[in-house]
Amino acid sequence: MNRRDFCLNLSQLALTLAMMGRSSQLLAAKPNSHQPSVLVLGAGLSGLYSALLLEQQGFKVTVLEARDRLGGRVYTLDNLAGKPESGGQNFSGQYLRLLKIVESLNLPTEQREIPSKQQLLSVERELVLSDNWGMSAVNRLSEKEKNIIPIGLMSYYLSLNNPLTENADWILPKYHHLDIPLEQYLQTQGASEEALRLMNIYPLSMNDIDSASALWGLKNAQRAKKRKDDDLNPMRIVGGNSRLPEALARSLSASIHTQKVVEEIRSTDDDVTVFCADGSDYQADLAICTLPFSVLRQVVIEPPLEAEQKEAVEQLPYTKVTQIYLSVNRPFWQEDNYPIQMWTDSFLELIFPIDNGQDKENTKTLAIWANGKNAEYLDGLSPKELEAGVKQKLKQIRPSTAGSVEISRVVSWGSDPFSQGAYHYFAPGQVQALQQKMSQPWKRIHFAGEHTSVSASGMESALESAERVVREIISL
Ligand SMILES: Cc1cc2nc3c(=O)[nH]c(=O)nc-3n(C[C@H](O)[C@H](O)[C@H](O)COP(=O)(O)OP(=O)(O)OC[C@H]3O[C@@H](n4cnc5c(N)ncnc54)[C@H](O)[C@@H]3O)c2cc1C
Repeated sequence: MNRRDFCLNLSQLALTLAMMGRSSQLLAAKPNSHQPSVLVLGAGLSGLYSALLLEQQGFKVTVLEARDRLGGRVYTLDNLAGKPESGGQNFSGQYLRLLKIVESLNLPTEQREIPSKQQLLSVERELVLSDNWGMSAVNRLSEKEKNIIPIGLMSYYLSLNNPLTENADWILPKYHHLDIPLEQYLQTQGASEEALRLMNIYPLSMNDIDSASALWGLKNAQRAKKRKDDDLNPMRIVGGNSRLPEALARSLSASIHTQKVVEEIRSTDDDVTVFCADGSDYQADLAICTLPFSVLRQVVIEPPLEAEQKEAVEQLPYTKVTQIYLSVNRPFWQEDNYPIQMWTDSFLELIFPIDNGQDKENTKTLAIWANGKNAEYLDGLSPKELEAGVKQKLKQIRPSTAGSVEISRVVSWGSDPFSQGAYHYFAPGQVQALQQKMSQPWKRIHFAGEHTSVSASGMESALESAERVVREIISL
């Protein structure tokens, strides 16, 4: 697939965008310039896809990326057995944009295995098979909760009375009364103290249940239900999801400058100038900023953002995620005959095999995945303390792991300077107060990135935001 074929495949979208916008007006406003120019800040999915769509509209595009690799939060660990996805893990049949793009780029996809229902739980250092959880002595849940495994508690409570049915419902004013602390909402649904404790371990897409808005949790539950109703299996790109940003970059003619850490974005009546940490600067008619707000809060914006937008950049919470990859030198699960996958109430939280398309029994890599406070705790350890602490905890909760694993890689999304968290979420009150205003254009700066999307999730939301921001620009 060459660039021309790819552009032809995307021509339908380009046509739609062209019909909606009047890109020539920008040119008309600047009679001496031949081609309107845009600086795209960040070469994750949203930045690369925006760049491609703009190029198709005749804009001159320059991409500035802080890291020495492309893809941002899509990051396949190519050097580890099984090629784990450290960032964007899976997509599904609901990701219509992503599927269209991977098809256009000739990137094959594969189904991922659905984790087996039977898993091992470690609660208060007791090992319990999930099938036996209901009768376990360490199960202190209330009668009605007793048969729900810890990782299922949140979706149980969020599905009891979830009024959201469509993807964009969560931003509607009629649901603002649910923009309250998630913990409080769960209590009103009847969650016991013990259930709340367990839900704070591996709380999907948030640091903990009291820092998140219930609307955010209900939105995630509504999307998960839709996925289940449509019976959609998780997929990934053959060879790893990083192949997507790499292929997108190859299809661009734009210059992509890596190791360009944006420090300041200055907008005037005439143009926008971006200053980088290495002393370089770039000028264009407009800029698209795809930096996560967690990172943008360290960037100087001139003139400064105002009101809700300023507050959103400063305050929007991001989930801390720390992953520890283990290489397996002895299949310890054959010794104790338990499933490999574990949910634990220790700081290790979730442990699971990386077995992309391989025989699970021959798994060579395991991932430990900790969120929120546990991720922060792990991030605070020195490499030596981390190694000793992780091995000791593993041995304590599952003795057969002793001598069977070595740490091969640690990825902390929370302490990565160019993401400062894995994904955004909304704190109580923020959906109502900030969501609508936070991604509006400011002077010559337009905003894209997963945090600015309304209807899509994860990688698809980055692509959705790219289409929206390009429509915004061509209709200027
Ligand atoms: C652990 C994890 C698991 C995930 N699981 C899934 C999943 O299963 N399914 C799913 O769909 N999605 C998942 N996601 C989310 C998905 O990966 C993201 O939503 C998506 O990749 C975000 O794309 P983006 O372009 O908005 O942001 P990014 O990919 O973060 O792009 C922003 C870019 O800006 C760059 N940048 C940052 N600071 C600067 C600076 N100062 N100067 C210049 N450049 C800068 C960054 O390096 C980055 O390349 C996951 C993410 C993580 C981290």
